[in-house]
Amino acid sequence: MLKKTIFKTTLWASATAVFMLTSSASCYASASSASGSGGLLESLNPVETTAFGKKKGVKIKMRVQGPSVDLPYEEQFFPRGDVTEGSSDSQLIYADRKRVASSDNGDFSFYSFRRGSVRTADSVSVYGNLRVTSDLFQNDLRDVIRLHPSDAKVRRAAINYLDSTSTMPLFYFVKGEEMENAYYTRFQADDGTRYRMMDLGWYRPTVTRREYTAQQPDIVWHEAGHALVDAARPDLFSDSPKAGAYHEAWGDTNAMFTLLTHESARKKLIFDVRGDLHQPNFLRSMAEEFGKSVLGTNTGLRDLDEDVKDNGFVGEVHDKSRVLAGAVYDIVAKAYEDQMRVNGVLPSKALGEVADYLRTQWVYTLTLVGVLWKTMSFG
Ligand SMILES: [Zn+2]
Repeated sequence: MLKKTIFKTTLWASATAVFMLTSSASCYASASSASGSGGLLESLNPVETTAFGKKKGVKIKMRVQGPSVDLPYEEQFFPRGDVTEGSSDSQLIYADRKRVASSDNGDFSFYSFRRGSVRTADSVSVYGNLRVTSDLFQNDLRDVIRLHPSDAKVRRAAINYLDSTSTMPLFYFVKGEEMENAYYTRFQADDGTRYRMMDLGWYRPTVTRREYTAQQPDIVWHEAGHALVDAARPDLFSDSPKAGAYHEAWGDTNAMFTLLTHESARKKLIFDVRGDLHQPNFLRSMAEEFGKSVLGTNTGLRDLDEDVKDNGFVGEVHDKSRVLAGAVYDIVAKAYEDQMRVNGVLPSKALGEVADYLRTQWVYTLTLVGVLWKTMSFG
C-alpha cells in the first residue's frame, strides 16, 4: 500500500487529496504509435467500418441532462466492436464492481431509468456520455490535423492523445465516493504503472435522499473535459493557477459543446428561451441539480453567462475559469445570433453549425495554449 499526495482536478473546491492505493499489474496493452498525418487520421478514427449492420456495433441509452431538465433520453448507435459489459471499451473502463451485461445483441439500450438506480441504466448512461464526448474530441483532432497538417504542436497533441488513451485507458467509477464532488486524476502506482481515473461521487441533500453526479451529464462531461485535455496536453496537468483555471474552463465548455451536439437539447433550449441564449437556461447553468442541492442556487454550480472579469490569476481555479468559459459562451451566443440574423439560418441549425465550428477551433487552441503562458491573461 502506498500513501501519497497527488494532484487532481475536481468539479469544484479542493485540488489535492491523500490517496491510498494498492499497486497492481498493468491490465492493458502498451502504446500504439502513429506517424504521418495519414497514420494519425486513421488511428483517431472512432468509426469501425466493419461495425455496421445486423448485430454489429452497439446501441447505448443515455441521459443528456440531469433529472431536473425535461429532455428525452438519447438512444445512440456507436460503430465500434469492442464494447463489453460494464460498459467498457479499449479506452474507457467501468471500474465499479457490479457490471451491466448486454442484451443478446450486445446492446445496452434497453434499461429503464429510475431515480437512484446507479447500478444499471446510469452506468450505461455514463459510458454513453463519455463515448460521445471522446468521439467528438477525436473527430475534432482529425479536423484540426486536416486544417493544419504540418503544425508540429497539433501533431504532438494528437500523438499524446493516442498514447495516453491506449496506455492509460480511463477507469471510471459511476458510484464513487460519498462526496459533494467528482474528480479526474492521473497517478503512478509504486510499481510504476500509470493510471487515469474518474470518480463520480454521490451525496445526501437530505437525510432520506441521495443524488448522484453520474446522473448529471454536465458533471460527467466536465470531468471528461479534464481527461481529454490531459490526454492531449499532459503538461497542463499541474498545480499552476493558469493551467488549473484553463483546465476548469475546458471542463465546463466541454459540457456545453457536447450538449449542443444533441439536436433535442438545442431545440428545447431555443424553445425555452425564445431564441435568446442570454436568458436563464440549462446550457449556461452547469449541473443544475448539484447547484440546487449543494449550493441552494437556481443557476447551477456555475453560470457560464455570468460576465466575470479577469483580475489576475489570484483565487481559486474554478472561480478563475469562469472568465474564459464565460467568454467562450458569449462567442457561441454571438456567432449563433449572426448565423441567424446575417445568414438567415434557422435557430437550431444555426446553433448546431456554430457550435460544431467553434468546438473544432477550441480544440485547435488547446494545441497552442502554453506557448504564451508567461504573458497570457484571461483578460
Ligand atoms: Zn474540474
